[in-house]
Amino acid sequence: MKIALVGVGKIALDQHVPSIADSPDWDLAATVSRHGTVEGVEAFTDMDAMLEARPDIRVVSLCLPPVPRFDYARKAIAAGRHVMLEKPPGATLAECHALEAMARAAGVSLFATWHSREADMVDPARGWLADKRVTRAHINWQEDVRKWHPGQDWCFEPGGMGVFDPGINALSILTKILPAPVHLRAATLHFPENRQTPITVDLTFSDGVTGHFNWDHDGPEHWDIEVETEAGTLALHDGGARMTLDGQAHGAPGDALRGEYPRLYKAMAALVERGGIDMDLAPLTHVADAFMLGERRSAAAFDW
Ligand code: NAP
Repeated sequence: MKIALVGVGKIALDQHVPSIADSPDWDLAATVSRHGTVEGVEAFTDMDAMLEARPDIRVVSLCLPPVPRFDYARKAIAAGRHVMLEKPPGATLAECHALEAMARAAGVSLFATWHSREADMVDPARGWLADKRVTRAHINWQEDVRKWHPGQDWCFEPGGMGVFDPGINALSILTKILPAPVHLRAATLHFPENRQTPITVDLTFSDGVTGHFNWDHDGPEHWDIEVETEAGTLALHDGGARMTLDGQAHGAPGDALRGEYPRLYKAMAALVERGGIDMDLAPLTHVADAFMLGERRSAAAFDW
């Protein structure tokens, strides 16, 4: 199937372009980006122009940041195209519900992707936990925004979500692996005094689940989730690429990110083929709740 990639920036070039190139399902037929292009692929700078000029392209993958993404998604759906959304699927829950309603009415597929759910050990973790009683769980998600989002000021602007931009990856895993849903009870959000979104966050959920998210972290990343059960402790490390049970390695360690995007594109191909909508908003709901419930604290100014 022919596909158009919209928003040719960091994640498009790091992951989407190589995953599409390696896939037997997809042919990258056009890009839409004000500055970015992909060698050998027809490039548009305007979404309307692409939708008009290329009716043969039935699927659009949107890799823009969440705030500008909605208008592009709306146009694609209105033009009868199937749509794949980078995470988070929107800047607000309401706009995600609106897109879902539009896609349903138009009879097109809509896929809210959560790349971290495709990490190698997430499915085995979900399987192991399925019949267990969870007594406690903790997310420890720490990385350096300067390394992973150099100069991307949108992350610190309203709707950019701050540390929840990576933190929602942990929440996407948590909401996939826990055998029963939890809900947020309290949050503390630290906002740099010169920015609009938090850089450090602590979350307390129901049922003994907590999380610490820090985007101003020096040294190696921590992308860990530990889940204690009455039958032992499961831990996911490296963003879900590695799993231990009571400290012992379980399965062959994967490679963070390598399989995630190819699996998303495979899933999108299957969704388009069978028709329908895959729009799980549970991770975004926790983020929205943190902004609603959270206690705001001021932190030191952040500059690149
Ligand atoms: P990015 O490089 O800053 O932005 C992607 C592209 O979106 C830009 O190159 C830009 O292309 C377009 N864009 C940005 N602001 C826009 C606006 N206001 N209006 C129209 N187009 C705009 O961001 P990214 O790191 O790729 O992240 C994009 C999405 O992918 C985010 O939702 C993020 O959470 C997700 N993601 C990122 C990573 C990562 O490692 N960075 C990993 C996984 C998922 P033009 O200027 O050429 O139009």
